[in-house]
Amino acid sequence: MSPRNKQFDFDFIVVGSGFGGSVAAHRLVEKGYRVAVMEMGRRWTPETLPRTSWTLRRWLWRPKLGLRGFFNMRFFRHVTIFHGCAVGGGSITYACTLLPAPEKVWEAKSWTGLANWKAEMPQYYATAARMLGVTENKILGPADLLLKRTADAAGSGHTFYCTNVGIFQARTGETSNQTFSDPFFGGEGPQRTTCLGCGGCMMGCRFGAKNTLDLGYLYLAEKHGAQLFPETQVTNVRPLPAASDGGAGYEVCTVKSTAWIRRQSRRFTCRGVVLAASALGTTELLFRLKEKGSLPGISSELGKHVRTNSESLIGARMPGYHEDLSQGIAIGSGVYIDEHTHIEAVRYPRGSDAMGMLTTILTNGRPGPRRIGLWVRNVIASFLRHPFHTLRVLQPWGWAREFVILLCMQALESQIEMRWERPWFWPFRKFLVSRGGKVPTYIPKANEFAQKFAQLTGGFPMSMLPEILFNVPGTAHCIGGCVIADSSNHGVVDSRHRVFGYKNMYICDGSVVAANLGVNPSLTITALAERAMSFIPPVAECTWNDAASIRS
Ligand SMILES: Cc1cc2nc3c(=O)[nH]c(=O)nc-3n(C[C@H](O)[C@H](O)[C@H](O)COP(=O)(O)OP(=O)(O)OC[C@H]3O[C@@H](n4cnc5c(N)ncnc54)[C@H](O)[C@@H]3O)c2cc1C
Ligand code: SF4
Repeated sequence: MSPRNKQFDFDFIVVGSGFGGSVAAHRLVEKGYRVAVMEMGRRWTPETLPRTSWTLRRWLWRPKLGLRGFFNMRFFRHVTIFHGCAVGGGSITYACTLLPAPEKVWEAKSWTGLANWKAEMPQYYATAARMLGVTENKILGPADLLLKRTADAAGSGHTFYCTNVGIFQARTGETSNQTFSDPFFGGEGPQRTTCLGCGGCMMGCRFGAKNTLDLGYLYLAEKHGAQLFPETQVTNVRPLPAASDGGAGYEVCTVKSTAWIRRQSRRFTCRGVVLAASALGTTELLFRLKEKGSLPGISSELGKHVRTNSESLIGARMPGYHEDLSQGIAIGSGVYIDEHTHIEAVRYPRGSDAMGMLTTILTNGRPGPRRIGLWVRNVIASFLRHPFHTLRVLQPWGWAREFVILLCMQALESQIEMRWERPWFWPFRKFLVSRGGKVPTYIPKANEFAQKFAQLTGGFPMSMLPEILFNVPGTAHCIGGCVIADSSNHGVVDSRHRVFGYKNMYICDGSVVAANLGVNPSLTITALAERAMSFIPPVAECTWNDAASIRS
């Protein structure tokens, strides 16, 4: 407790409870601060999580339509962004693959030279990995073995690896589905059950095996005093009148995110703020606050350098396959088909077939009208040649049991910009819109791999329908928008995540990441947040005067 600051409701308010937000909450509570965490999404328990993706109202997040789940899709001209929205942020829906980024990501971007990243980051990666319970996947399902077979046939079998995941697994020789008292935090954490390999990680783990943040960082933060406000959306953050740079504290306004009417507006005060609403969430919130005049000094670099890991979702469907391809963990293994291109085998649990409505027959060729024409031709030709089989692979039922998603990621540079503009079709208010060059939706080598995969198993190679029709890739790994840089001319925060232009304001989420990681980002976001929080002193030593440093 910090008695000096009793005139404020909290010392710190953390906006968002995902990877960055949970680290911030836990570490700040440890240092003696009074912390509140505002989270727009709901709190989930094994009893409330949906059994399959057909229970749309408990899977998708679109509260105005009565959908109050934990998985959100945002559609932009350049990209469809998938992200989590829950107490525990993206960890509730994520596939728990936790890989460190290759060292080269610290070179040649806006964060280069601002810290000795290569020397500093390993210790924070190690802490993040320990806290998230990272271990090598021991549960290889049939989809992983098929990935290995295809990689062998494609000459890249030697790159096959089992993913590192945040899952509590049984020890070799022991049976799964066994409950133990806290195995991770010396008895401080909740009891846990070993993984069944049901493939359900992305629908939320109903067995207590996935190391979601509400069972780790956030659990510890709450246990030691952090106050968590679920279904609470932050709508305003502005400096208290005594100092326009936030040196005298902030006012944070919220509404109930799941209410239509009676939105229960509330106002809190605090000395410092940690924005951790995700790459998209923080960027959007800061655009709103800049426009409103609440935070006019935010850098005009806001929204720039948004990266999507250059992803393409393809796959193969094997109607009537003799094994259940949904068995295993959500992402059990991966291969590198060349120096830049990484493919992971991904699955949904049995019965979660709703995504099947977005998959269609794989079509090669440069994106655009010609590819759409080719796709129509392929579908018609397939119907004429194998009407029953084609119908079978295009209808969603049984999809999760018969489908292997191949998530292809490239560590090649490609970025877009998010802007706050009035779209031509609705000039009455501003929205977040994407601008810039097209992000590739067609990775020829990945398509070849999917074709080989299907050939070996007698299945059909498949693509995502929006990628073909609209030339818009989907990504679950949106990063950037408020990147780390030397000054507000090049980014939004400094190397300690302090927001340029404001005091005691930090950003701890995927928006600060300044390079395309080429791997799933959550471990890096966690490690960066650990590093940022390590610079904040214990409450007794805090002078509440922390401002970003500007390098010339
Ligand atoms: C289906 C799926 C699978 C994935 N699998 C993996 C994987 O295997 N490995 C991996 O590394 N990554 C994976 N990811 C990506 C991963 O989930 C994100 O990279 C990660 O969660 C980002 O962390 P973050 O701290 O930036 O924010 P998040 O974890 O997204 O948390 C931000 C939180 O802020 C809340 N919020 C937003 N705006 C407000 C507001 N105004 N007021 C209050 N709260 C707000 C949101 O509701 C959200 O809960 C996956 C994502 C998806 C969707
Ligand atoms: S495979 Fe099933 S039991 Fe294991 S972590 Fe994922 S959802 Fe939980």
